[in-house]
Amino acid sequence: MSGLADRLAAVRARLRPGVTLVAVSKTQPASAIREAYQAGQRDFGENYAQEWRAKAAELAALPDLVWHFIGGLQTNKVKYVLPAPRPGAAAPPAVGWVHTVDRLALAQELSRRAAARGGAARVLLEVNVGQEGSKSGCAPGELPRLAEAVARLPALELRGLMCIPPAAEDPRPHFARLRALRDALGLALPDLSMGMSGDYPAAIEEGATLVRVGTAIFGERRPQP
Ligand SMILES: *Cc1c(COP(=O)(O)O)cnc(C)c1O
Repeated sequence: MSGLADRLAAVRARLRPGVTLVAVSKTQPASAIREAYQAGQRDFGENYAQEWRAKAAELAALPDLVWHFIGGLQTNKVKYVLPAPRPGAAAPPAVGWVHTVDRLALAQELSRRAAARGGAARVLLEVNVGQEGSKSGCAPGELPRLAEAVARLPALELRGLMCIPPAAEDPRPHFARLRALRDALGLALPDLSMGMSGDYPAAIEEGATLVRVGTAIFGERRPQP
Protein backbone atom coordinates (compact mmCIF):
# COMPACT_ATOMS: atom_id res chain seq x y z
CA MET A 1 0.00 0.00 0.00
CA SER A 2 1.56 3.25 -1.10
CA GLY A 3 1.81 6.09 1.37
CA LEU A 4 1.56 8.60 -1.44
CA ALA A 5 -1.63 7.09 -2.88
CA ASP A 6 -3.20 7.06 0.59
CA ARG A 7 -2.32 10.70 1.24
CA LEU A 8 -3.64 11.67 -2.18
CA ALA A 9 -6.91 9.88 -1.48
CA ALA A 10 -7.21 11.63 1.89
CA VAL A 11 -6.81 15.05 0.25
CA ARG A 12 -9.25 14.16 -2.53
CA ALA A 13 -11.84 13.14 0.05
CA ARG A 14 -11.87 16.71 1.37
CA LEU A 15 -12.50 18.39 -2.00
CA ARG A 16 -15.85 19.53 -3.29
CA PRO A 17 -17.26 19.10 -6.79
CA GLY A 18 -15.82 21.74 -9.09
CA VAL A 19 -12.52 21.99 -7.20
CA THR A 20 -9.37 20.89 -9.04
CA LEU A 21 -6.52 19.52 -6.99
CA VAL A 22 -3.14 20.76 -8.21
CA ALA A 23 -0.52 18.43 -6.72
CA VAL A 24 2.52 20.62 -6.04
CA SER A 25 5.55 18.53 -6.97
CA LYS A 26 8.38 21.07 -6.70
CA THR A 27 11.64 19.46 -5.53
CA GLN A 28 10.04 16.00 -5.81
CA PRO A 29 11.49 13.52 -8.31
CA ALA A 30 9.69 12.58 -11.52
CA SER A 31 9.15 9.13 -9.99
CA ALA A 32 6.88 10.64 -7.31
CA ILE A 33 4.86 12.45 -9.98
CA ARG A 34 4.54 9.19 -11.90
CA GLU A 35 3.28 7.46 -8.76
CA ALA A 36 0.63 10.15 -8.21
CA TYR A 37 -0.32 9.93 -11.88
CA GLN A 38 -0.79 6.19 -11.57
CA ALA A 39 -3.12 6.92 -8.64
CA GLY A 40 -5.23 9.07 -10.97
CA GLN A 41 -3.80 12.55 -10.39
CA ARG A 42 -3.53 14.65 -13.56
CA ASP A 43 -2.86 18.28 -12.52
CA PHE A 44 0.61 19.07 -11.16
CA GLY A 45 2.15 22.34 -9.98
CA GLU A 46 5.80 23.36 -10.32
CA ASN A 47 7.66 26.49 -9.21
CA TYR A 48 11.00 26.55 -11.01
CA ALA A 49 11.21 26.77 -14.80
CA GLN A 50 14.31 24.66 -15.35
CA GLU A 51 13.33 22.03 -12.81
CA TRP A 52 9.91 21.81 -14.46
CA ARG A 53 11.45 21.48 -17.93
CA ALA A 54 13.62 18.53 -16.92
CA LYS A 55 10.75 16.67 -15.27
CA ALA A 56 8.28 17.46 -18.07
CA ALA A 57 10.68 15.98 -20.62
CA GLU A 58 11.02 12.85 -18.50
CA LEU A 59 7.23 12.50 -18.20
CA ALA A 60 6.29 13.65 -21.71
CA ALA A 61 4.77 10.28 -22.61
CA LEU A 62 2.04 10.47 -19.91
CA PRO A 63 -1.21 11.45 -21.62
CA ASP A 64 -3.52 14.12 -20.15
CA LEU A 65 -0.99 15.40 -17.65
CA VAL A 66 -1.63 19.13 -17.05
CA TRP A 67 1.16 21.35 -15.77
CA HIS A 68 0.46 24.42 -13.66
CA PHE A 69 3.26 26.91 -13.19
CA ILE A 70 2.85 28.39 -9.71
CA GLY A 71 6.22 30.02 -8.97
CA GLY A 72 7.57 33.45 -9.66
CA LEU A 73 8.32 33.68 -13.37
CA GLN A 74 10.90 35.96 -14.91
CA THR A 75 9.91 37.19 -18.36
CA ASN A 76 13.11 35.75 -19.86
CA LYS A 77 12.14 32.26 -18.62
CA VAL A 78 8.79 32.17 -20.42
CA LYS A 79 10.62 30.49 -23.30
CA TYR A 80 11.19 27.46 -21.07
CA VAL A 81 7.58 27.00 -20.01
CA LEU A 82 6.07 27.71 -23.47
CA PRO A 83 8.86 26.47 -25.76
CA ALA A 84 8.67 27.04 -29.50
CA PRO A 85 7.61 24.08 -31.62
CA ARG A 86 10.42 22.30 -33.45
CA PRO A 87 9.82 21.76 -37.16
CA GLY A 88 9.29 18.10 -37.94
CA ALA A 89 9.34 17.00 -34.29
CA ALA A 90 6.76 16.51 -31.56
CA ALA A 91 5.97 19.75 -29.75
CA PRO A 92 8.01 19.96 -26.53
CA PRO A 93 5.92 19.95 -23.34
CA ALA A 94 4.42 23.25 -22.22
CA VAL A 95 2.59 24.41 -19.15
CA GLY A 96 -1.17 24.66 -19.53
CA TRP A 97 -1.64 27.19 -16.75
CA VAL A 98 0.37 30.00 -15.18
CA HIS A 99 -1.00 31.05 -11.77
CA THR A 100 1.46 33.84 -11.09
CA VAL A 101 0.94 36.60 -13.64
CA ASP A 102 1.47 39.89 -11.80
CA ARG A 103 2.56 42.34 -14.49
CA LEU A 104 1.62 43.18 -18.05
CA ALA A 105 5.09 42.54 -19.55
CA LEU A 106 4.97 38.94 -18.33
CA ALA A 107 1.46 38.47 -19.73
CA GLN A 108 2.50 39.90 -23.10
CA GLU A 109 5.42 37.51 -23.35
CA LEU A 110 3.22 34.55 -22.36
CA SER A 111 0.70 35.53 -25.04
CA ARG A 112 3.42 35.88 -27.66
CA ARG A 113 4.93 32.48 -26.87
CA ALA A 114 1.53 30.76 -26.62
CA ALA A 115 0.55 32.19 -30.01
CA ALA A 116 3.78 30.85 -31.53
CA ARG A 117 2.73 27.37 -30.38
CA GLY A 118 -0.69 27.88 -31.95
CA GLY A 119 -2.57 27.65 -28.67
CA ALA A 120 -3.69 29.65 -25.68
CA ALA A 121 -2.35 29.54 -22.13
CA ARG A 122 -4.69 29.75 -19.16
CA VAL A 123 -3.58 32.38 -16.70
CA LEU A 124 -4.45 33.66 -13.25
CA LEU A 125 -3.44 37.02 -11.83
CA GLU A 126 -1.53 36.75 -8.57
CA VAL A 127 -2.70 39.32 -6.04
CA ASN A 128 -0.64 40.43 -3.06
CA VAL A 129 -3.65 40.24 -0.76
CA GLY A 130 -1.61 40.82 2.39
CA GLN A 131 0.01 43.94 0.88
CA GLU A 132 3.39 42.55 1.96
CA GLY A 133 6.29 44.62 0.67
CA SER A 134 8.47 41.61 -0.04
CA LYS A 135 5.85 39.54 -1.83
CA SER A 136 5.16 39.07 -5.50
CA GLY A 137 1.69 39.71 -6.82
CA CYS A 138 -0.01 42.82 -8.05
CA ALA A 139 -1.42 45.31 -5.55
CA PRO A 140 -5.21 45.06 -5.16
CA GLY A 141 -5.55 48.62 -6.41
CA GLU A 142 -3.74 47.80 -9.65
CA LEU A 143 -5.81 44.71 -10.34
CA PRO A 144 -8.64 46.19 -12.46
CA ARG A 145 -6.25 47.77 -14.96
CA LEU A 146 -4.05 44.68 -15.19
CA ALA A 147 -7.06 42.39 -15.60
CA GLU A 148 -8.52 44.46 -18.43
CA ALA A 149 -5.20 44.56 -20.27
CA VAL A 150 -4.53 40.83 -19.84
CA ALA A 151 -8.07 39.93 -20.91
CA ARG A 152 -7.40 41.63 -24.24
CA LEU A 153 -4.27 39.61 -25.08
CA PRO A 154 -4.96 37.24 -27.96
CA ALA A 155 -3.37 33.96 -26.82
CA LEU A 156 -4.20 34.05 -23.12
CA GLU A 157 -7.34 32.86 -21.43
CA LEU A 158 -7.71 34.87 -18.23
CA ARG A 159 -9.31 32.45 -15.78
CA GLY A 160 -9.19 34.21 -12.43
CA LEU A 161 -7.07 35.16 -9.45
CA MET A 162 -4.49 33.52 -7.20
CA CYS A 163 -3.09 34.40 -3.78
CA ILE A 164 -0.64 33.25 -1.12
CA PRO A 165 -1.76 34.83 2.18
CA PRO A 166 0.84 36.05 4.68
CA ALA A 167 2.23 32.99 6.49
CA ALA A 168 1.67 34.34 10.00
CA GLU A 169 -1.97 35.39 9.58
CA ASP A 170 -5.34 33.66 9.50
CA PRO A 171 -5.68 32.96 5.77
CA ARG A 172 -9.47 32.96 5.66
CA PRO A 173 -10.04 36.74 5.46
CA HIS A 174 -7.46 36.84 2.66
CA PHE A 175 -9.28 34.11 0.76
CA ALA A 176 -12.55 36.01 1.18
CA ARG A 177 -10.85 39.17 -0.03
CA LEU A 178 -9.54 37.46 -3.17
CA ARG A 179 -13.03 36.28 -3.96
CA ALA A 180 -14.45 39.78 -3.45
CA LEU A 181 -11.76 41.27 -5.68
CA ARG A 182 -12.59 38.74 -8.38
CA ASP A 183 -16.33 39.45 -8.14
CA ALA A 184 -15.74 43.23 -8.25
CA LEU A 185 -13.91 42.92 -11.57
CA GLY A 186 -17.16 41.98 -13.27
CA LEU A 187 -15.34 39.88 -15.88
CA ALA A 188 -17.10 36.61 -14.98
CA LEU A 189 -13.77 34.93 -14.16
CA PRO A 190 -14.45 31.34 -13.07
CA ASP A 191 -11.38 30.47 -11.01
CA LEU A 192 -9.77 31.19 -7.66
CA SER A 193 -6.42 29.49 -6.95
CA MET A 194 -6.01 29.50 -3.19
CA GLY A 195 -5.30 27.05 -0.39
CA MET A 196 -2.23 24.91 0.37
CA SER A 197 -1.64 21.86 2.59
CA GLY A 198 -2.40 23.73 5.80
CA ASP A 199 -5.50 25.60 4.75
CA TYR A 200 -7.11 24.17 1.61
CA PRO A 201 -10.38 23.14 3.34
CA ALA A 202 -10.87 26.76 4.47
CA ALA A 203 -10.00 27.99 0.99
CA ILE A 204 -12.62 25.68 -0.52
CA GLU A 205 -15.21 27.06 1.88
CA GLU A 206 -14.29 30.54 0.65
CA GLY A 207 -14.73 29.60 -3.01
CA ALA A 208 -11.44 28.12 -4.23
CA THR A 209 -11.69 26.21 -7.52
CA LEU A 210 -7.99 25.28 -7.66
CA VAL A 211 -6.14 24.19 -4.52
CA ARG A 212 -2.35 23.82 -4.57
CA VAL A 213 -1.32 21.03 -2.23
CA GLY A 214 2.25 19.77 -1.89
CA THR A 215 3.47 18.34 1.40
CA ALA A 216 0.11 16.78 2.34
CA ILE A 217 0.51 14.57 -0.76
CA PHE A 218 4.24 14.15 -1.32
CA GLY A 219 5.57 14.58 2.21
CA GLU A 220 8.39 16.93 3.10
CA ARG A 221 10.12 18.70 0.23
CA ARG A 222 13.66 17.82 -0.80
CA PRO A 223 16.35 20.47 -0.68
CA GLN A 224 15.77 22.85 -3.58
CA PRO A 225 17.73 21.60 -6.62
C1 LIG B 1 5.01 25.16 -2.51
C2 LIG B 1 3.74 25.84 -2.85
C3 LIG B 1 2.50 25.28 -2.54
C4 LIG B 1 2.33 23.98 -1.78
O1 LIG B 1 2.61 24.17 -0.43
P1 LIG B 1 2.33 23.00 0.65
O2 LIG B 1 2.29 23.73 1.94
O3 LIG B 1 3.47 22.06 0.52
O4 LIG B 1 1.04 22.38 0.29
C5 LIG B 1 1.35 25.95 -2.94
N1 LIG B 1 1.42 27.11 -3.61
C6 LIG B 1 2.59 27.69 -3.92
C7 LIG B 1 2.60 28.97 -4.66
C8 LIG B 1 3.79 27.07 -3.54
O5 LIG B 1 4.95 27.67 -3.84
